[in-house]
Amino acid sequence: MSTPPWIAAQVRALAPRPGHALLLQGPSGLGQYTLGLELARAWLCEAPQPQGACGQCPSCHAIAVRTHADLCVLMPETAMLALGWPLSEKAQQEIDDKKRKASKEIRVDALRDAVEFAQRTSARGRGKVVLVYPAERMNAIAANALLKTLEEPAGEVRFILASEASHQLLPTIRSRCLNHTLVWPAPEEALAWLSAEIPPADAQVLLRAAGGRPEDALRWAQAGLTARQWSELPKALARGEVSALVDWPPAQAVDALQKVCHDLMAVAAGGSPRFFFPSDLPATASLATLAAWWRELADSLRTAEHPYNPGLMLEALVSRARTGLHSARPPSARRP
Ligand SMILES: [Zn+2]
Repeated sequence: MSTPPWIAAQVRALAPRPGHALLLQGPSGLGQYTLGLELARAWLCEAPQPQGACGQCPSCHAIAVRTHADLCVLMPETAMLALGWPLSEKAQQEIDDKKRKASKEIRVDALRDAVEFAQRTSARGRGKVVLVYPAERMNAIAANALLKTLEEPAGEVRFILASEASHQLLPTIRSRCLNHTLVWPAPEEALAWLSAEIPPADAQVLLRAAGGRPEDALRWAQAGLTARQWSELPKALARGEVSALVDWPPAQAVDALQKVCHDLMAVAAGGSPRFFFPSDLPATASLATLAAWWRELADSLRTAEHPYNPGLMLEALVSRARTGLHSARPPSARRP
């Protein structure tokens, strides 16, 4: 995959900046992880170029094969596995032996390893980098251990914290870092990049579905979402078809429903939809009904990360969506 041009521009701007801790923040899908890794590559590269890492030297090669001795990647185990980073031998053994599942949080054990890494001398002589992503996935113990390390930085180590919800970080962590807010790509730039990764017809619809965040759109496409499925979603919900959301993780299902509801409210208020095309939407609903549905969706979001029963939750969500969409129609248009 090519480095998106808006990420490359940020690498050029940030790579020369001094400072021992950098916080990359902004909503998901703008490329926090990609930018963080590109900066780590640039800082550790043996022949850095104005645009960042050279891509050819032993250091760049070591990062490409995930074995750089001076780069410590601190992530939830689920993210490590998804992005192709090796776990520690001990962690991998515990998961292989089914003693526990891969963690969705950054584990305190991993953080202790990172603190130890920060105190060692650089193996390749170009300093060391700790990349933390998503930084908000630390519990209080891990966050405080990291804070202590940020307060007493060892000379050679630089931290990159990449976050999609930086308001969840300790304020004391945020204040120790140089803050950088991810730059939004121009719509045509995002579309051009995404169209090189997935079929262009899908790219346009999914980029809209993702609210203009290209990496989110790519992730959804890779998870199997097609333009057709997305475009048909609002009307399928109006018909009460649970299959429209089947296989979606509950949090993503709620997100999609919020987008349906958002667009219907926009249309009801005389505006334009943002995530769907106007022809995708069923008959306009009354604002009051939609507002009530919106509030319920916000409540659902709280339980969506850990639903008691994901299947039942989806059924309830679709049933509620159908009511929300139907009660809004003029009585004559209702089905019997
Ligand atoms: Zn290099």
